[in-house]
Amino acid sequence: MECPVCFDTGAREVDSAGGVVELDCKRCGPFRYGGGAWEELKKAPENKRAVIASRLWDQNRFGSVPTIDESNVDALLSMQPLPFLERAKRLLIDLAEQSDRLGKPLQLSSPRLDAMVGTLVHNDLAHINQFLLDRGWIEDVVGGYWKVTGGGLISG
Ligand SMILES: [Zn+2]
Repeated sequence: MECPVCFDTGAREVDSAGGVVELDCKRCGPFRYGGGAWEELKKAPENKRAVIASRLWDQNRFGSVPTIDESNVDALLSMQPLPFLERAKRLLIDLAEQSDRLGKPLQLSSPRLDAMVGTLVHNDLAHINQFLLDRGWIEDVVGGYWKVTGGGLISG
């Protein structure tokens, strides 16, 4: 089914009861929506929905399955986007957390990273990645893989 936040059509319906749908989206993660939230989200611009994706990621991170409904959809749609440095920090921390050994090759292909940095355009990750590269916090390995440098692990 279509995710009302990122519009990916591969979202999986987990449950549906009393007008509330629980779904699991590859990008936005698990969440519920109900009431008039669907209509509000459908007409919201992409940048606003991207902010909501980052908010869902924040809550998923602590194990909760958030609900978007009439009581909070307007507040969610008026949230400010993450500052660029916060996006860069999130990406570096995530890469550092994946580095269970120094120099481990890592990829940036997971759609969950889009939600983490608050974008619905996967290519935005390349810009953030370039920023980390320019600072020497990550290094290009080969074939679309990256590794976190010693400096990057300290910064993360
Ligand atoms: Zn989604």
